[in-house]
Amino acid sequence: MNEQVNRREFVKTGAAAVAATGMSVCATARADVGKLALLGGAPVMTRAEAEGFLGLFKWPIVNEAMRKANDRVLCDCKMSGTDIADEFEKKFAAWNGTKYASSAPNGTASLVAAFYAVGLGPGDELICPSITYWASCLGAIHLGASVVFADVDPKTLTLDPKSFEAHITPRTKAVVPVHVYGQPCDMDPIMAIARKHGIKVVEDVSHAQGGLYKGRKLGTIGDCGAMSLMTGKSFAIGEGGMFVTDDKELYRRVVRWGQYERIARTFSPDEFARTKNLPFGGVKNRLNQCSAAIGIEQLKKYDSECAEIEKAMRYYHAGIADVKGISMIYPEWEKSNKAGWYYSRAIYNPEAFGGVTVKTFVRALNSEVGLNRFDVGCNFPLHLSSIFDDEDIFGNGRPPSRRFMPANVSPAAETGRLPVAESVLPRVMGDPSFKHFDKPKIDRYIEAVHKVAANIDALREWEKKNDKAS
Ligand SMILES: *Cc1c(COP(=O)(O)O)cnc(C)c1O
Repeated sequence: MNEQVNRREFVKTGAAAVAATGMSVCATARADVGKLALLGGAPVMTRAEAEGFLGLFKWPIVNEAMRKANDRVLCDCKMSGTDIADEFEKKFAAWNGTKYASSAPNGTASLVAAFYAVGLGPGDELICPSITYWASCLGAIHLGASVVFADVDPKTLTLDPKSFEAHITPRTKAVVPVHVYGQPCDMDPIMAIARKHGIKVVEDVSHAQGGLYKGRKLGTIGDCGAMSLMTGKSFAIGEGGMFVTDDKELYRRVVRWGQYERIARTFSPDEFARTKNLPFGGVKNRLNQCSAAIGIEQLKKYDSECAEIEKAMRYYHAGIADVKGISMIYPEWEKSNKAGWYYSRAIYNPEAFGGVTVKTFVRALNSEVGLNRFDVGCNFPLHLSSIFDDEDIFGNGRPPSRRFMPANVSPAAETGRLPVAESVLPRVMGDPSFKHFDKPKIDRYIEAVHKVAANIDALREWEKKNDKAS
């Protein structure tokens, strides 16, 4: 409905942005481009030129303040400890708009703590989209829980609410919507379904820190959020993870799971008189304070960096909007965005390019731009891994998914076939990850896309001669 309007609006504003630079958005104006570099023509940019563009992509943007903050931790020998991490958590919670935040050494640890917090345990099922990084769900097996996978939406690659609902069983305890590749999940239907069935919602915000869904920060919509703050992610502090929630009880359980130094101040002496302040998870989830100090500095500049990335990525997509067959993934709802556009993906439609595979298309693109700035595919469908239902990981003769299940229950069978997840990879293309709004440089990448699209017939011939698998 107003999806249509928004897309038109986007193309319009995008085209205006392009027009403002005096650049033409007309495809035919660029149809006289030369022979493809892959076929021996001159590339849009040489490798040497492309190397001069490295700053456009470098991430994170490390400033003097971050270096100094890191140095101070080292000089004060405070790499271990909790004082700086406490400060980071407070500031992160305030920025994120949640009452509580609890850090961890990585996102994987944060997610396991979150699963414990919402009560996931032996014999329970966690529903996870099949297209995501394994840490979105795999840690649940430590808790004795099983993972049931749901399918994703072919246009956005995020959890398909209908598939989520179809995979609910009496054992479903939690769902982990992943704002995958920066795209917010459609949280309204997901929350409605979860509430109807009494299912806890743990948002995996590893790809979308600071992103918005209908004006609400990601990670504040479900019962809680958990995320990676690893170097490559949008909010990058080195190695790190963060759990966020408004629910005091969930926060207390995360502390109880692996924050042994915070137990004494989070619980009354009565509450740990018998257990002492031992962590229930048997894990130590303390964040390295160099990372915490870097995170405090990152918070000061992250929003403005995301705003610049947003401009750069939208400018790029507006520049290629006239190329039929490549669709940007972007939230169509009001007051929604992709924050840092982590690992930005687009949907590639081979039919629009006479059957040329995404692999060949991207290969031709990369030949034009000197370095591999475009790529193909996305995370492989997790439900096809044998780890969940075939491997006897814990040595008790049963795979993780059936470890605590009655004999007649098979989460792998419940997952079944997931048609989109199993077929979508050849339709996914990776965008160049622009971190700066540098129009003349971005224009070169736009030019490369137009050049390859304009030479699609020659490329199809090339692909026929060179085995598609090569
Ligand atoms: C990176 C990532 C994680 C795990 O975070 P680490 O910091 O690498 O442990 C979890 N979920 C998703 C979707 C991720 O991409």
